[in-house]
Amino acid sequence: MNTVFETVIGIEVHAQLRTNTKLFCGCPNQFGTGPNSNVCPVCLGLPGALPVLNKQAVIFAVTAGLGLHCQIRETSVFSRKNYFYPDLPKGYQISQYDLPICEHGHLDITVEGVSKRIGITRIHMEEDAGKLVHQGAEAISGSTGSLVDLNRACTPLIEIVSEPDIRSAQEARVYVENLRRILMFLGVCDGNMEEGSLRADANVSIRPVGTEKFGTRTEIKNVNSFRSLERAIESEVARQTALILSGSTVIQETRHYDDFTQTTKSLRSKADAHDYRYFPEPDLFPLHVSSAWIAEIKASMKLHPDAVLLKYKTEGLSEFEIQVLLDDPEMACFFDACCVDGVSPTAVAKWVVGDFQAILRDKKISFSDSPVAPAALTSLVQMIEKGTLSGKMAKEMLPAMMTGKDPESIVKESGATQISDGDALRPLIAAIIDQHPDVIEKVKSGKRNAADFLIGQVMKETKGRAKPDLVRTLILEDIQNR
Ligand code: ADP
Ligand code: MG
Ligand code: ZN
Repeated sequence: MNTVFETVIGIEVHAQLRTNTKLFCGCPNQFGTGPNSNVCPVCLGLPGALPVLNKQAVIFAVTAGLGLHCQIRETSVFSRKNYFYPDLPKGYQISQYDLPICEHGHLDITVEGVSKRIGITRIHMEEDAGKLVHQGAEAISGSTGSLVDLNRACTPLIEIVSEPDIRSAQEARVYVENLRRILMFLGVCDGNMEEGSLRADANVSIRPVGTEKFGTRTEIKNVNSFRSLERAIESEVARQTALILSGSTVIQETRHYDDFTQTTKSLRSKADAHDYRYFPEPDLFPLHVSSAWIAEIKASMKLHPDAVLLKYKTEGLSEFEIQVLLDDPEMACFFDACCVDGVSPTAVAKWVVGDFQAILRDKKISFSDSPVAPAALTSLVQMIEKGTLSGKMAKEMLPAMMTGKDPESIVKESGATQISDGDALRPLIAAIIDQHPDVIEKVKSGKRNAADFLIGQVMKETKGRAKPDLVRTLILEDIQNR
């Protein structure tokens, strides 16, 4: 049999919202502290404790929806999704079901030069569950017991559900990459996949090319990097293809991707919606988001990466610089802060993406923790543009700036400014020319490059502080006049 199959993928992304507090209580939205320390009666699920919706979480959900071109529902409803698991003391998760906050959006991806629109079915808000800490073994299967940490219980998530519009592992990867970038640029989610702030589940099925009907899907969980996402999908497609070709069928189930063996294995059969006995959460009112509020959120929204891309193109940045900045919103934010009036964005980009990024990376410091303020880097760039410093001198000053000193005071202390005053350089230049009559002849006979030797001599005498292009002009001038 020669059947060729087509892959069909729909992705569900859970993104943790960057609020200060949890979704329905005032506990801090952070896990850095000891187990079960950021908890209260609400997030512990104690009987009688009542949830109160976090307004900032709603703002972030609407922001994400606007960034993904969704329609925002004027009235959305929280529902109880009932199931038992030790990390869910209430016995239900507060989520949204048939009336989610955002619907009907899209996100465009480009793979190998071809652009394509991926539909976003819906975005709903929900609380996260706690965390089981398995003891005694790395895998769930070999564990001797599990402890429950409820710090994560009730932290705010949005779940972004795509249409089954994705057709390859590569498209899936680009989709999640773009989505992550949008959420990070809009300030909604920190995008850290390793720490689980952004988690993607891939629903995968295959169908014979040319047929309409979707095949039975499996849902792959536990994908915590772009590379695992691609590999997990590829291995799942291979598994399903082999099953069907051997006359067997795919069963609808949830599968777990093992990064080590690079295969997926069955976790549980997939529960259907009716198994969860969804019903409207009686402890919360329906959520109303007025069009005035949406307009207000829109007005205060940070730049969407598409807009950022356009801005950088207009500012004249190179493709490479734009790519680097779009991959690191913190760097982009630092760059934007450096670009004040009167400084050239291309000159700033050269430093931010180049030597300055290198020194931060070398010291393992992120842009948001940079000891060099954007204003200090701007001054440095301006000093180069004015000719007070050469590029080389500026680069040598970066380590000193990492102690928090501004470039002006470093220059003042060391006296190491660039000499760009012609009158100061002319006597030295004349003296050097006097010592090399042979070079004078060469230059006069049209070999202007011969002057390079003299420039080198001047730079040596001034310990690199003379401004090279000025030195060249002055040397040629002097020789012409002899
Ligand atoms: P559930 O509630 O079971 O997770 P959803 O209706 O929310 O189901 O769909 C989950 C995801 O599965 C969506 O992203 C959707 O696009 C995708 N999906 C649905 N059917 C298929 C299929 N046959 N093959 C691949 N993906 C699918
Ligand atoms: Mg789902
Ligand atoms: Zn709490």
